[in-house]
Amino acid sequence: MKDIRKVLHDVFGFPSFRPNQEDIILAILSGQDVFAAMPTGGGKSVCYQLPALLLPGLTVVVSPLLALMKDQVDAACEQGLPAAFLNSTQDGTEASAVYRDLAAGRIKLLYISPERFAAAGFAGRLASFGVDFFAVDEAHCLSEWGHDFRKDYLELGTIRRLFPAARIAGFTATATRRVQEDILRLLKLKDPFVVRASFNRPELFYEVAPKERADPQILDFLRDRPSESGIVYRTSRADVEKTAAYLVSRGVKALPYHAGLSAEDRTRHQEMFNRDEVRVIVATIAFGMGIDKSNIRFVVHADIPKSMEGYYQETGRAGRDGLDSRCLLLYGPGDLAKIRWFLDRMEDGEEKTRAFGRLRRMADYASVNVCRRRQLLEYFDEPHPGDCGGCDVCTGRAEKVDASEDARMLLSAVLRSGERFGAAHIVDIVTGANTEKIRKFAHERLKTWGVGRGKNKSHWRGVLGELLAQGCLAQDDERYGALEMTGKGRDVLYGRESFDALKRPGKRAAGGKKSPIPLAGAAAAGPVDEGLFERLRILRLEIASEKNLPPYIIFSDRTLREMCAVLPRSRDELLEITGVGGHKLEAYGDLFLAEINKHAR
Ligand code: ADP
Ligand code: ZN
Repeated sequence: MKDIRKVLHDVFGFPSFRPNQEDIILAILSGQDVFAAMPTGGGKSVCYQLPALLLPGLTVVVSPLLALMKDQVDAACEQGLPAAFLNSTQDGTEASAVYRDLAAGRIKLLYISPERFAAAGFAGRLASFGVDFFAVDEAHCLSEWGHDFRKDYLELGTIRRLFPAARIAGFTATATRRVQEDILRLLKLKDPFVVRASFNRPELFYEVAPKERADPQILDFLRDRPSESGIVYRTSRADVEKTAAYLVSRGVKALPYHAGLSAEDRTRHQEMFNRDEVRVIVATIAFGMGIDKSNIRFVVHADIPKSMEGYYQETGRAGRDGLDSRCLLLYGPGDLAKIRWFLDRMEDGEEKTRAFGRLRRMADYASVNVCRRRQLLEYFDEPHPGDCGGCDVCTGRAEKVDASEDARMLLSAVLRSGERFGAAHIVDIVTGANTEKIRKFAHERLKTWGVGRGKNKSHWRGVLGELLAQGCLAQDDERYGALEMTGKGRDVLYGRESFDALKRPGKRAAGGKKSPIPLAGAAAAGPVDEGLFERLRILRLEIASEKNLPPYIIFSDRTLREMCAVLPRSRDELLEITGVGGHKLEAYGDLFLAEINKHAR
């Protein structure tokens, strides 16, 4: 077997594998089926592209993202990997040309849409080309538990029968166990090699800021990073239009994107963003599925997302090149009220309850004094110790208040009422409510009854949420959500430990600029000459426009930054830069070397 590390270096230009890539590739090459859950940006493409090069026959990639296929094929061809696609966006002549190339064995990697796979006669024709390997991308589309279920994906269940000799791999960035089980079952994977990668994205900095007036806040954020590109998410189409217009009126190159625009406008706006012709896209969540742009430096949510899963996916679009990127959520309690209002108009009781639950979880994320990264990862069943150094809670940027006094009132109410009651009743005790339940248990006689009258219920519910999130109280679902003390809760109650809560966004949040965060990781590798970086970017843009390709397909920002830091003087040195493989060295190496040499002189 060829040394796959050498192929990774010579063809893809990468010095080493990312976590799990090597194991996945070895399994595929040895003929095993694979299931891999890896976060966006984790490097799934290499896991099927590299085997495609080494296997004798054809590799077929099934993907629902038609808009992306052309870019993916262009990117593969740029790396010297013979690739093509077949989908409904092509005309007959183009498709015939692909079939001719397939028949002549000129193609190693073929991208198809699930509709194409299901089309009458297609699978038989495909079989005649000798398929060694099926890679099913976005495999969670098979599962009704996922958030993008697609009926035509179910047809992929026939691959096993129609192509008994081929190995099959399912790739997804959706990590829940239920979705995984569906994929294994529906693709009929045989004793697969299963990978569940860490969903941690160390290059992303998570931050929540109190929402005041969203538009000026967004503008401030953008002015702090004038050359960076990113996404601003808003919930409603009207707000998308409003914010986009506001930003444009203040001189920011921005475009809107939502399902109310025509298909042509949507494609055009996405394309312009992709090609760095506008730097900001203001969008509803209709935007993003299949965005491959690697240099998205920030994702701002100007309204609260509907779930943690959604938030993780949307923020995951930043930093795919591995450089530090920012994820800012603007959160005000008013948001919650707005979404509640929408939810209230939903019909189905059970679906509505679930939607409320997801929203509640998201609101907790925004409001409790617990590492944001830890909260996100634990949501995906991945333990994390916290203290991540890459979120506003851990770096002390989030404003905290000492809530020890309030915490003790609640903890004492829990203890004195016998650890048998749920959150609502505990809040009733502290605020001195006179309910039937209070009278029934004579809780008005507890010492803590009414001690917290000075503050409203929503305040107490907030502190209680903090106590739960920080592990001072535990909730027993078997006993209808009864609250119990934990060891940590006792430490707080008896004054052995103090208790800090996040400052809740009030009517007027404290203003003042926050200090810039220090960068960690790749971007901090060393300051690079911004002038040279700019010149390399211009060179890249010229090449890209000439070839009619998005710039990042030529070289990523990361690759350009590395060039600026290392200043390679020869082709050999250039080949050592991450992202420079043999094919790109041939095509562009001299142009970039010339620019770098000019700078060095
Ligand atoms: P995914 O499909 O999992 O979201 P991609 O396959 O698009 O991720 O990879 C994300 C980015 O990481 C791409 O820019 C890709 O070139 C880069 N990448 C992948 N593997 C490696 C590696 N081993 N070393 C360096 N960069 C890599
Ligand atoms: Zn943290």
